[in-house]
Amino acid sequence: MSETFKQLSPYLEKAQALKTAINLFEWDNETCAPPQAGPYTAKMIGTLSSEYFNVVTDETVKSLIQACKEATDLTEIEAAIVRELATEVERLDIIPADEYREFSELCAEGGSIWAKAKKNRDFDSFAPTLKKVLEFQKKFASYRAKEGQHIYDVMLDEYEKGFDMKALDQFFRTLREQLVPFLKKLMDSGVEIDHTFLTGDYPNEKQKEVGEFLAKYVGFDFERGVLGVSAHPFTMELHNHDVRITTFFKDEVSDSMFSVIHESGHAIYEQGIPDEMTLTLVGTGASMGMHESQSRFFENIIGRNEAFWMPIYEKVQEIFPEQMGAYSREQFVKAINRVSPGLIRTHSDELCYSLHIMVRYEIEKMLMEGTLTVEELPEVWADKYEEYLGIRPAHVAEGVLQDIHWSQGAFGYFPSYALGSAFGAQLYMYMRKHMDFEGLLATGNIGEIREFLRTNIHQYGKLKDSRQILKDVTGEDFNPQYYVDYLIEKYSKVYGV
Ligand code: ZN
Repeated sequence: MSETFKQLSPYLEKAQALKTAINLFEWDNETCAPPQAGPYTAKMIGTLSSEYFNVVTDETVKSLIQACKEATDLTEIEAAIVRELATEVERLDIIPADEYREFSELCAEGGSIWAKAKKNRDFDSFAPTLKKVLEFQKKFASYRAKEGQHIYDVMLDEYEKGFDMKALDQFFRTLREQLVPFLKKLMDSGVEIDHTFLTGDYPNEKQKEVGEFLAKYVGFDFERGVLGVSAHPFTMELHNHDVRITTFFKDEVSDSMFSVIHESGHAIYEQGIPDEMTLTLVGTGASMGMHESQSRFFENIIGRNEAFWMPIYEKVQEIFPEQMGAYSREQFVKAINRVSPGLIRTHSDELCYSLHIMVRYEIEKMLMEGTLTVEELPEVWADKYEEYLGIRPAHVAEGVLQDIHWSQGAFGYFPSYALGSAFGAQLYMYMRKHMDFEGLLATGNIGEIREFLRTNIHQYGKLKDSRQILKDVTGEDFNPQYYVDYLIEKYSKVYGV
C-alpha cells in the first residue's frame, strides 16, 4: 500500500462504517421497523449523515487527496478510490453543513410522508415536502454546476457519467420514434395472450418458496445474502459478504417471481465485487445504469427467455400444481411476455418499460427548467401517459405518486433504468454472437453466462464507467439501436407480426 494512501485509510474506513450504518437503518426502515419509528430514526440518520459529511470534508482529507494525486506509488485501485473520494468531497464540500443535515432529515422523513399521501391518494399532502426537496436539490446542483452547465445535467451526471440531456434526448427520441408505433402495431394486431392463470390463489409461503428457488438458481449466494420482504423490492449491499434483497407477494405470481430475479441480478453484481475492493469507494457497481443493466438482464433477457424455463418449469409446476399444472411451458412463456400498456412502472412489461421512464425524464426536465410547477404535476403526468401509453390514471396513487424516488431527492435517477435496459440489450446482442446463449440456458448452464458478466463487468466495480465497460466488452460505444432491435425482434416473434 502506498504510504500516502495509508494515511487516508482511517478516514476512509470511518466514512465507510457510517455509510454502512445508514444503509442498515434504511434496510430496517423498509423491512421491519414499526410504523411510528420514522421521525426518531430520521433524526439518527441525520446525525450519522452529518458525521459522514464531517469526516469526508475534513481539511486533512483534502490535503491527503492532493498528496495522493501527486504520489506515484498508488495502485490502480488506490488511485481509483482517491478519484472517487475527490468527487465526493467536491460534491459535499460545496454544500453548507447545516443545509446538508436539514436535507438528509427531510429525505429520511420524506419517504413516510410520501407513503401516507399515496395511501390516501392525496397529492396535496405531499406537495409541500416535494417542493422543499426539489428546492434543495436545485440549490445543491447550482452550487455544483460548472460555468454554463444546466442544473439537470449536474443531477444526471451523478447517476450516469457521460449521459447528459443531449445524449438522453437522442436516446429517448430513438425509442419514441420506433417503439411507440411498434407498440401500437402489436396492440392493433388483435392477438390475445392468456395470462389469467398467473393471477389467483398463490399463497405467500409458496411465492416465497419459488422466489428462493429462483434466486438460488440464477446464482444469488445465500451464504452472503438475505432475502427479505418489503412493500417495494430493493437491493441493499453492506459489502460483498452481505448483500440483501427483498421481494413482495402479489396476487399475480409473476410479479414476485420476476422481482426476485431482478433483485438477484443487482445482488450478483455486488457479490461479484472482489474482496480487495469491497468496503471501499470503488467496491460497488459502476453506475446506476450499469447496475440496472444487470438486474434487467437477469429479469428479462434471461428470465423471460423461453430457454431459461426449459430445465425448471416443471419444478415451478410442482410448487404450484393446481395453479399451473394444466398450463404448458409454452403458454407460461407467452403469458410472462404479454404486452399490455399499464399505469404502473414496476408492473410494466418489458416493451413498455422505457416509455414509463420517458414520461419521468420529460417531467424532470421541465421541473428543472422551471416550465412546470409541482401543482401541475398530476395533470401533466396523466397527459403524458395518455400520449405514449394510451391510458390515463384514475387517481394519483397510480399516477404521479407511484414512485418513492422524488421523495428521497433522487432527480436524474429514472433515466438510468432505461439506459440500463439498453446497455443490457447491447451486451446480449454481443454475447449471443460469441456464445450459445440460448443453448446454455436450455441446458441449465446459466453459470457460464453469469461468469461472463462477472469477468467482464462485476469484477471491475467502479474502476471503469459504463461507457468504458460497454466499449471494452462489445468493442463499440453505446448504441441504443441494439435495444430497439432486440425488443422488436423478440416481440414480433411473441405476437407473430
Ligand atoms: Zn433495479
